Amino acid sequence: MPDPVRVSFLGGLGDIGRNCATIEVENRLMLLDCGQMFPDETAPGVDSILPDFAHLRANAERIEGCVVTHGHEDHIGALPHALREFEFPIYGSEFTLDMVRRKLDEHGLMHRTDLVPVADNERRRIGPFDCEFLPVTHSIPQGLITAFHTPQGVVLHSSDFKLDLSPVDGRVTDLARIGAISATEGIRLLLADSTNAESPGHSASESAIGPVLQAIMQARPDQRIIVASFASHIHRVRQIVETAVATGRVVATLGLSMRRNLQLAREHGLLDLPDHLLVDVEELDRFEPGRVCIVSTGSQGEERSALNLLATGQARWFDISPDDTVILSSHPIPGNEAGVGRMVNDLVRRGAEVIGSGQVDVHTSGHGKRSELSTFHQVVRPEYFVPVHGEFRHLVAHAELAEELGMPDDNVIVCQDGDSVVLDDDGLSRGRAVGGRYIHVQGHTGLVEADQLSERRILGSQGFVAMVVSVDEASRRIVEGPRLISRGWIDSGEHEDLIAEGENEVAQALERVLSDPEQFIDTATLERVIRRAIGRYVNNTTRRRPMIVPSVSVIPS
Ligand SMILES: [Zn+2]
Ligand SMILES: [Zn+2]
Repeated sequence: MPDPVRVSFLGGLGDIGRNCATIEVENRLMLLDCGQMFPDETAPGVDSILPDFAHLRANAERIEGCVVTHGHEDHIGALPHALREFEFPIYGSEFTLDMVRRKLDEHGLMHRTDLVPVADNERRRIGPFDCEFLPVTHSIPQGLITAFHTPQGVVLHSSDFKLDLSPVDGRVTDLARIGAISATEGIRLLLADSTNAESPGHSASESAIGPVLQAIMQARPDQRIIVASFASHIHRVRQIVETAVATGRVVATLGLSMRRNLQLAREHGLLDLPDHLLVDVEELDRFEPGRVCIVSTGSQGEERSALNLLATGQARWFDISPDDTVILSSHPIPGNEAGVGRMVNDLVRRGAEVIGSGQVDVHTSGHGKRSELSTFHQVVRPEYFVPVHGEFRHLVAHAELAEELGMPDDNVIVCQDGDSVVLDDDGLSRGRAVGGRYIHVQGHTGLVEADQLSERRILGSQGFVAMVVSVDEASRRIVEGPRLISRGWIDSGEHEDLIAEGENEVAQALERVLSDPEQFIDTATLERVIRRAIGRYVNNTTRRRPMIVPSVSVIPS
């Protein structure tokens, strides 16, 4: 009886972000992506949310390597953090590995890994893993579907995918090979992208965007064109650049990642732009507005992005004026709508025309919608299915879709971060929990614990009130204070009375304790008294709950 195969989900099931799973065969463990998630406003000061590596820590000697499906941050962003703890080789396409290399170089971590390129349709043995890599269409070049030929049958991981019959680089999702595997060996378990499982229909082809961009640029021969897009969306950037050149414009980039990725794409032959048509943004004054196209980052309204600096008049390169047409070639990611809205208002206030995906089709998703997911399921015809890559509602919608297509309920398992499944001769069942906590980090390594985050949230929304007091132990008298110091609670200049009254309340509470000779006085006791007195006072007078920080020194005799 062949060994069971276990798949564990360390992140990415319940949120869009921090995708990371492990697949275990013959006591060895292969990582499948290692991504990060960017925090929202509920995690102030946090730079990144990582997958939970507890399962890797418990099995560090068994890690065979990591397969990276493509170069998006939600798939490669946690690699530096993982490589600080563990050493393993990384397998992926040339383009993906170049993005990984750039990231690891920045962290000085290249000595912790080997980057091993794999080709489209290559089948390669990595330890006990018999892996087959298939081309897939997505919003970044050279994504890979992975088929693991295991002792328990084929486990197919879809990667992020769409079914585009006319992708910009001609590289279509290899349904033919998947169909062939399905028809011969059969596919035992499918793990598939659920991002757009709630969206009906079929996503538009990426190549439909070029003509829309062309029409916009042609209709504005005297306007300077600024197009914002994700820097990693090379297919989009290519169409922007080609359209710019076709309409007689030079191209400049804004934003470090856009400059680097454009260069990387040129090196990989993914984008053709002659040197003389690529100009520095500082030189744009030499050109009439109608001869210029700028590709920029910042399509999500990020505060420090190049486009937002332009919108708020803080950029040193040039000023936005009625000569400018700004195209937002993207959709706001959920959570970014307000920031994007603010930026659009700022741009319009400076006289620019702003064209977004809400008005014309200047964007299409890189993730397949329901009819694409249906087609994919019908080609794969898996025996078992676990939806991956999505918010919980997307995972459930994808599971329902599979059932509508005829899969028995029992063969579809909806998992969340920290769950695992086991595939053996009896079929697919839930395995033991492996840990799926949010790991918040700031800077390169600093962990941020949950209580630290809740303190930050209180500080951010309510401010703090500190109460400083010194007590002489022998005479049991207050020798200094109590003095109230606050930030973010009330305007202390306007409300001196409130502050004096608060100090008085605390003084009285302390006197009561100090005058009771039975009462033992130490710092902890006095801090508790202060916390209770001032907490009640602040709440009663202002209906606020700032952080209360007592600072007591008991002066020994
Ligand atoms: Zn992706
Ligand atoms: Zn993704």
